[in-house]
Order: sequence, then structure tokens, then C-alpha cells
Amino acid sequence: MSVEDRAEELASDLGIDKEEVREDLENLVSYSVPMDEAVQSLRRKYGGGSSGAEPESKAIGEITTDDGSVTVTARVLTAGKRSIRYQGNEQVITEGVLADSTGTIDYTAWEEFGLSPGDTVTAGNAGVREWDGHPELNLGESTSLVFEDETLEVPHEVGGETDLASVTPGDRGLTVEARVLEVETRTIDGRDGETEILSGVLADESARLPFTDWEPRGEIEEGADLRFENVYIREFRGAPSVNCSEFTTVSTLDRSIEVSDGAPRRLVGEAVESGGAFDVELVGTIVAVRDGSGLIQRCPECGRVVQKGQCRSHGQVDGEDDLRVKAILDDGTGTVTAILGTDLTREVYGGGLEEAREQAREAMDQKVVADTIRERLVGREYAVRGSLSVDEYGANLNASEFAEVDEPPTERARALLAEVAE
Ligand SMILES: [Zn+2]
Repeated sequence: MSVEDRAEELASDLGIDKEEVREDLENLVSYSVPMDEAVQSLRRKYGGGSSGAEPESKAIGEITTDDGSVTVTARVLTAGKRSIRYQGNEQVITEGVLADSTGTIDYTAWEEFGLSPGDTVTAGNAGVREWDGHPELNLGESTSLVFEDETLEVPHEVGGETDLASVTPGDRGLTVEARVLEVETRTIDGRDGETEILSGVLADESARLPFTDWEPRGEIEEGADLRFENVYIREFRGAPSVNCSEFTTVSTLDRSIEVSDGAPRRLVGEAVESGGAFDVELVGTIVAVRDGSGLIQRCPECGRVVQKGQCRSHGQVDGEDDLRVKAILDDGTGTVTAILGTDLTREVYGGGLEEAREQAREAMDQKVVADTIRERLVGREYAVRGSLSVDEYGANLNASEFAEVDEPPTERARALLAEVAE
């Protein structure tokens, strides 16, 4: 239902001016207050009680986006705190996952109920909202929350401990143990002016992921083995990234994290479907080398590739020569565009900018450089390691390593099939 429709409904329910209600409603929604929560808060403001009967008790697996509000008894699996700006004020919200024997559901608590992982609670009159096609619960001012003495047994791990390979953007209240591989201090324009944050790379036995610490802490130094409690996962350039807030606790581990040198090898189709990966190895056949490969020109201002001397942002520019490969890698489960920067391109071309310019001059066509690269790569099998992003520009693997695979394709296919069958 649109803001317009909700405003109309509210105004007629409460017997007040529609324009006034709509303005309030738009205001709340613009501060990211979920629609149901906004409607409830306006009902309170204008003196109307909550509409309808007491919500019925529901099993989590039976909650649908058609439910307005429900009463559930559930175990708190995770409870991650986060501070957001709400109507100009800082507000602390708690987000996580609730479970019963029939399923799990994400929740957001807009009040400080004191939820902790492991608690069994009954939430009366919890609002249901839709997120990405799925129902989620809002626990707000009109929710009655009771802590139950008896623990509800659920077929899920309590506490949100996970390895880095298993996290997904949107996860909240997680605990990870990882080594800090890289860290740097950056100054950003925050909502309260310039502020310092930390960013870098974490690693464990399973994967490497970028991280951001929005409240820089001294424990986070290069080489430190740390336990991070209460982190949340956001998407960063198409791949998950670990975020530490003011509510995250960071402690030093007395064990040493084993960090693998290699990247996890995945099937192309599976890696693309997962939405991206910070560091991954994909193996497949190069089936094509795309236009825009070989000798190219970049805008000196922004580094974008220029076409016929034109930059999309800077108009007519004096392009600077560079080398690049955009190659399509196919393993039978899917395709990605592997992007090789200057150094890797130099290796596969067998020469640098000078050689490329020379070849282009002789042929009076710079496309010959891409042709040479095409002849070398197409039809051969490569292992490409890099950072995979999947967005409106497609599935792109920014390569950090690029190596021909010697194993015959049939054996590779068999190994991949065995992995799928696992
Ligand atoms: Zn430019």
C-alpha cells in the first residue's frame, strides 16, 4: 500500500486531516521507519488505539507478509546492536534472528528490551513487515515482551558464531575469530563531520574479507588474532564485508589463526549466484577476449577507459595508454569476465606498453594487440584468483593471479562434478 493510501486510511480512521497525516507519514518513512511502525506511531500521536483484535499466536514458519502483526514465542539466536539516526536523534536498535522449531525470522527491536542470544521470549503484537519478499518482525513500543523461564529448544546454533566464508550481507549480531592481514586509518566525511575509521582485510581458515571499524580500536593491528563479537555484514563492491560498530567487542585470542594462502576455489555459477566474493579462485576455459582489451586509453582525470578520446565524465581528453584484458571465463556452470590489469596483461601479451605501441604502429591499428592476446588465451584453461563483484555491470573478476591449468579439461570437469555431488 502506498503512503497516499495509508494516509487516507489513517485519516478516515482517526477523523483528522489527510494532508497532515500524509506529511507525518512521509517524514517518518524518509527516516527509514518501517511503514507499519510509522502508522502505529501516528495512531498513538493522534489518539487512536491500535486497530483490530489481539494478534494471533503463530509459529515462525507460518508467518507471511500478509500478516499485520503476530504473537510469537521464540529463541533469540542473535542480538546485534546498532545505532541509527531517527528523527534527528541517535537511536540504538537491536537486530538479529529469532527461531522456533518451525523456522527462523529476522527481527528489529526499536526499544531496548535487553534481548540476548539464548533468551526465550514471547513477543506479543510484533509487527510484520516485508523485506526482499520475506516477512520480518518489528518489536516496538506496542509490542509486549515477556522472557520465558523455560528454554525453547530449536534446531539452530545460538550466538551467531561463524567463519568468514559463511557470512552474507544483512547478517547481524555475528561473532567471528580472525587475523588482521591489513589495516589502515582513513578519514571520511561522516554525519558528524570528519571522522577516522579503520579499514582493511581479515582472514581465517576459510576466507579473506574486507572490514571496516567505525569506532577505531587499538587492538586492531596488523597480524593480531582477534575475536569480534557483535559484528554486522554489509555489501561492499558486490562482496560481503565485516563491520564493527561501537557495540562490537574485540578481544585478543590466545590461539593463532591459521590463514590459508590460497583463495577458496568455487564453481563459477555458484560464486556468481552468491552475489560476489572478496577473494576467490575460479577455474574455466577462456571462451572470448572482449573489445576494450589490449592497448587502451584511460582518462588522466578519472582513469576510465576513453572511447575515441571521449571520457564519459570529462569529455574530450588526452588519453593515456594502458594495457588490459577482459576475458570471458566459462566452466560450464556459468561465466564471468576476468579483468587483468597492466601487470598481468603484460605477462600474457609477452611485452609492455612499448611493444604494444610498436605493434599497433606497424599494423596501423591498435586492435592487433588484443588479437595477439586473443590468440594466446582463447580455448585454454586458466585458474583466476581475484575479487568477484556482481552488479549492474555484470559479473567481473578483478584478477590478482592468472595461471594456465595443465590438467586435462576432462579431469577438471570430473573434479568439479565430484565437488557438486558432495
Ligand atoms: Zn574522466
